[in-house]
This record gives sequence, structure tokens and C-alpha cells, in this order.
Amino acid sequence: MRAKQQRMCVACRRKGDQASFLRIVSAADGRMGINPGPHMQGRSAYICNCYSCYQLALKHRSLQRSLRRQVPEEILQELEKLIKLEDIERKELV
Ligand SMILES: [Zn+2]
Repeated sequence: MRAKQQRMCVACRRKGDQASFLRIVSAADGRMGINPGPHMQGRSAYICNCYSCYQLALKHRSLQRSLRRQVPEEILQELEKLIKLEDIERKELV
């Protein structure tokens, strides 16, 4: 059995397995999605599910660089929503 492939956050460059990141996929047909599931294939970028990495990625345009194309505003907004939600859930668990 092969070792699990390591993914890397585009913002802080932390490494880990895929499940610990949000995945942004840029499909060949021009669509883009966040955690789209196996039906959507294309170039992928990974980011930690934390607000500091989101801000860092925005600042350095890390997602755009990694996906080699513009990231639409609605994708960025969706990502921000996902990250904020996760953050709130985590606080409620503590
Ligand atoms: Zn990160």
C-alpha cells in the first residue's frame, strides 16, 4: 500500500493529508468549486480551514497562483463563509 499523499496549504505551506484542508478545484471546462467531490477533476489547491490562512492567501494571491487563473469573487466569498462557519463551530465545541 502506498503512503497517503501529502497536500500543502497554499498560504502557510503546512503539510497534511487531504482531509485536513479545504480543496479548491479548477476544472478544465472553466468551472470552479470548493470541496466538489470526485466528480470534478482539475487543478487543485488546498488551504487550511482557518481564517488566517484565508487572509494570507488573499493577500498573496496564493490561490490564483496555484490554480494559474483568476478566482471568481463568488468562490472567494463561498470559501470565506465555509471558513467562518468552521471557526464558529469549533468555538462552540470548546
Ligand atoms: Zn495554512
